[in-house]
Amino acid sequence: MEKIYMIPVNDAYADSCGCPICRLHEKAENNYLEYYLGPSLMEPDTRKITNKTGFCPVHMGKLNKAVTNRLGLGLVMHTHLKDFNDDYTPKLKASIPAKAGILKGRNPDYKQKLNNMADLIDRRVSSCPICDNLNDAMGHYVEVICWMFSHDSEFKEKFIESEFHCMPHTALLLRQAAKLSQNDAADFVEALYNNNSRTFDSLIADVEYFTLKFDYRNTDKPWGTSKNSIQRSMRFLSSDGRDFDEQQSKKQS
Ligand SMILES: [Zn+2]
Ligand SMILES: [Zn+2]
Repeated sequence: MEKIYMIPVNDAYADSCGCPICRLHEKAENNYLEYYLGPSLMEPDTRKITNKTGFCPVHMGKLNKAVTNRLGLGLVMHTHLKDFNDDYTPKLKASIPAKAGILKGRNPDYKQKLNNMADLIDRRVSSCPICDNLNDAMGHYVEVICWMFSHDSEFKEKFIESEFHCMPHTALLLRQAAKLSQNDAADFVEALYNNNSRTFDSLIADVEYFTLKFDYRNTDKPWGTSKNSIQRSMRFLSSDGRDFDEQQSKKQS
């Protein structure tokens, strides 16, 4: 099993707070953002890719926020715009429907052409080398997680004890578990089931308590663990917790 993936997996599971796979994702994403803003931007091989792909909306936003290499970002943007324009604009011109007249009849082909153009835009807008690299890395990570679960009892314990595995990352783990032998999959999915159901039960109870706190008869009762239960539920349901602001719940104390 590849050691380069085992070390970050162990690090992510050393902390029992939140979803360990979200931590792996965040770390890998930051590394790729740094990579694409670093000297790699000037390497012809990288440029060949980024000229064609650009970056997806999420990663364009993150690169823009990073502001470490404005010139590099400008150069990539310039060549990507040119590549996009060369590919797209002539095709758009060719897909302008001819007006139906007395000599030219109606031609329904234009509908297909316009839909094709829309597909081309969607494809180009969502293409992103950071997403591609991240998906690749996450695939290796879940492979390593499943392997360590059945070969390393200390890791298995940490897996069971982790606060939760968020739903999108549970899906990733289940897809990997489907590739395991039936016996390995049985143990792994049972542990995942215990972890998931414990999380559901505690979040449901906490969020309910949160709502009951709005009843004036409960004003003096302590918030307990319910205070940030909405944000924790959002993290559990959708992964990546950085945007889930807990300020709102702090104000209610
Ligand atoms: Zn996660
Ligand atoms: Zn992306």
